[in-house]
Amino acid sequence: MSKRPFSYYYDDGSRSRSSSPYPAAIPPNDAELTLSLTGPHSKPTVAYFFNEEVSAFHYGEGHPMKPARLALTHNLVMAYGLDKKMLNFRPRAATDDEIAVFHEDDYIEFLKRVNPGNLQHYSSIMGKFNIGVEDCPVFDGMFDFCRIYTGASLEAARKLVSGVSDVAVNWSGGLHHAKKWEASGFCYVNDIVLAILELLRAFPRVLYVDIDVHHGDGVQEAFYMSNRVMTASFHRYDGHFFPGSGSIEEKGTGKGKYYAINVPLAEYIDDDAYAYVFRNVMTDIMSMFRPSVVVLQCGADSLASDRLGCFNLSIRGHGQCVRFMKSFNVPMLCLGGGGYTVRNVARAWTYETSVLTDTDLTNDLPNNPYMSYYGPDYKLHAPIVDSSAENANSRPITGQHSGKGARVLAVCGACTQCANARDPLGCRKVV
Ligand SMILES: [Zn+2]
Repeated sequence: MSKRPFSYYYDDGSRSRSSSPYPAAIPPNDAELTLSLTGPHSKPTVAYFFNEEVSAFHYGEGHPMKPARLALTHNLVMAYGLDKKMLNFRPRAATDDEIAVFHEDDYIEFLKRVNPGNLQHYSSIMGKFNIGVEDCPVFDGMFDFCRIYTGASLEAARKLVSGVSDVAVNWSGGLHHAKKWEASGFCYVNDIVLAILELLRAFPRVLYVDIDVHHGDGVQEAFYMSNRVMTASFHRYDGHFFPGSGSIEEKGTGKGKYYAINVPLAEYIDDDAYAYVFRNVMTDIMSMFRPSVVVLQCGADSLASDRLGCFNLSIRGHGQCVRFMKSFNVPMLCLGGGGYTVRNVARAWTYETSVLTDTDLTNDLPNNPYMSYYGPDYKLHAPIVDSSAENANSRPITGQHSGKGARVLAVCGACTQCANARDPLGCRKVV
């Protein structure tokens, strides 16, 4: 298969069916926002994608990324009977050609060939691809793992394109750090970029939203020059926290200028503060950019008590982001991402599956093969929040400092002035 130049997907003004929502200020139009495949009397069709083989891989002893968390999640989804509320698919693995739509051929060839038994043979080029380092080790079946989670995201995107479903879910996807020719942050193949490229075949404008505790750098970089893909990432940022990027000043470039939104946050943000910032920023983005489809990366390392994260969100608080994005009734692809306290990852993504399917769940967990992981409370909404932790973000509602060099996110509500200035969210300030 001949590879399309990546720029094919950028809006050059002639190939795309989309027209830029800028420069004219577009007043929010509730009727347009709720226009979608669903009507008031029909429920969205949710499609669920899971290939059980994906959970059997191991990054290595002590590595925080544990694909087994996907087995916990899937079994909890099944135990609650949520599979009966969705169309269920067992997607095939992605092919080399499908992965090559974004990634470089020599990088794919390396991923295919390297294994723990032949590392020495490739030692001279491991550094080039950032593989073999602590974060991105070579492990048995590494590329097969990538192909399986990527195949699920691609199939999920295709079901949205074909109209088979209004919402598509792949908890095994969402590996947002991988670059075109480089692994990063436990991610080797960027299934999100590939899924967005698939969506761009049919949808004029794609909105990518990232609630992982880490900046969604790989996706932002891939579409940094695009005005058909807006990226919005909410993450811990202090210039050092991995991956180090995600400053509010990163806004996109060229035709993509102002189409990258970054919301840098300080540690221990709680449910109320997060909801306030998320709702304000996303309301503005939805009204200004008016996406035809949303891709939501639901990284669960933004939960309280995560092994690597430092936010203080409850299961319900994390799920509120999913609920809020669902409320716009725009077709949506929901993906996983980070999440390193395995039992809470499973809780969060199961709860979010219930949100997407409009299903109430009992707080007592149903019996399932991994029940022992959920002790001692065996609850869905386990008490994971650290009530003694101080939210290092100031209170955005009052704009007041809470001290200790806190960050203020002054999020503009109306944005009319900024829209006129071609920067819909430019009135946000870090004080
Ligand atoms: Zn993360």
